[in-house]
Amino acid sequence: MSDNTRETNAFTEENNCVDTEFIKCDGCGANMVFDPDKQVLSCPHCGSQKQFNLHTYADEINLSEGFSEDRWEGNVDQYECDNCGAKVVLSAGETANKCPFCGTAHVQKSQSLTGLKPNALLPFTFGKDRALELSKAWAKGKFFAPKKFKKKLQAENVNGVYVPCFTFDSWTTSEYVGRIGRTYTRTVGSGKNRRVETYTVWKDISGVHYDNFDDLLFSAGSKCDQKQINKLAPFDTNNSKIYDENYLLGFMAYRYDYEISSCWGMAKNVIDSSVRSNILSGYVYDKVAYLNVSTRHDKVTYKYVMLPVYVGNFNYAKKPYNFYINGNTGKVWGKTPKSFWKILLTVAIPIGVVVGGWFILRALGVI
Ligand SMILES: [Zn+2]
Ligand SMILES: [Zn+2]
Repeated sequence: MSDNTRETNAFTEENNCVDTEFIKCDGCGANMVFDPDKQVLSCPHCGSQKQFNLHTYADEINLSEGFSEDRWEGNVDQYECDNCGAKVVLSAGETANKCPFCGTAHVQKSQSLTGLKPNALLPFTFGKDRALELSKAWAKGKFFAPKKFKKKLQAENVNGVYVPCFTFDSWTTSEYVGRIGRTYTRTVGSGKNRRVETYTVWKDISGVHYDNFDDLLFSAGSKCDQKQINKLAPFDTNNSKIYDENYLLGFMAYRYDYEISSCWGMAKNVIDSSVRSNILSGYVYDKVAYLNVSTRHDKVTYKYVMLPVYVGNFNYAKKPYNFYINGNTGKVWGKTPKSFWKILLTVAIPIGVVVGGWFILRALGVI
């Protein structure tokens, strides 16, 4: 995309001059949005399309060079929801009408910095219409979900949000020393004293263990957190693209809540426990007296990748509910409200049959 297709408008807000950037349609001048079905920018008004460079894969960043200082400023604005605290980032010039997580309109433009800029992104591969179809099919399959909820799902309840995640690669070398035991049984004594007793054979172990970890994925957000990301996985992060703000047009991005250093801390914990169980899997044992492992991390790289998730929100009986759709694979996960009457009937009918049967048998004099 050439620079002259980008228009810069300046507006004054609370004495701050803010540059807003968006891409205008050559045909009609409307703001263009990213079209996941065609992987181009398209004009929602007249339908004209514009390509941008899609075929570049994101590189890993070497951790030994420190965490990236590339900050996410200027081209994006940050909004914060007063109701649920979600922080979302939009292309400058777009405004958030509703919070994608709680559906309320209490979103305010926030003055705080938007933090580290992502270096990678996995684009959405289908649009909102398909996301709504998937949500409806999913809701339909939920037996206990109230009818009202199944019928009320609308496009405004489903929003495309890029969720911030960090992926880490590491080549590990672990030196270990430990003591493991195996339990056996034997028969001792004779006559009345003959009995079976258990005993443990202990063994000292030590060695060096090598393990490679590739694209361990950690959600850096508290709204679509690790649990949700694990449920929606897999995400094809090895094929993520270089971050380009064109992908954000028409979508929201959720700002990270956990710093990369604390996510790397979590990654090391996951690696440590994985290394431990991989070491032990090489032995036959049923007791571990101790196992001391010291791990060196080499060639550690990371990506700060935005993952495509459609977030569904709805309120039922004054309680907010969320569900999530993997914007790449279409996998849906979430909780629906449960209809009190449906649960009551499901429980009541079998009980009614049993109690009714008992009365009939009694009346017939069978019992
Ligand atoms: Zn147009
Ligand atoms: Zn909210």
